[in-house]
Amino acid sequence: MPLYEFECQDCKENFDKLVRLVGAQDVVCPKCGSAKTEKKLSVFATLAKGARSVSESLGSNCAPGGT
Ligand SMILES: [Zn+2]
Repeated sequence: MPLYEFECQDCKENFDKLVRLVGAQDVVCPKCGSAKTEKKLSVFATLAKGARSVSESLGSNCAPGGT
């Protein structure tokens, strides 16, 4: 489940939240309750996974179709 970072447009509060659907924007600010929140970059969940899978595929797939 991806963890996204949001920023409230009203009070500029930054918070992160687990969301299942990308684009579902019924996220309200935990501080002021405003629905005017903007999704920022997906945080470490995607970042850590991406970095690891990249290095793994680079290490194990040395010969991609050499015959
Ligand atoms: Zn707010």
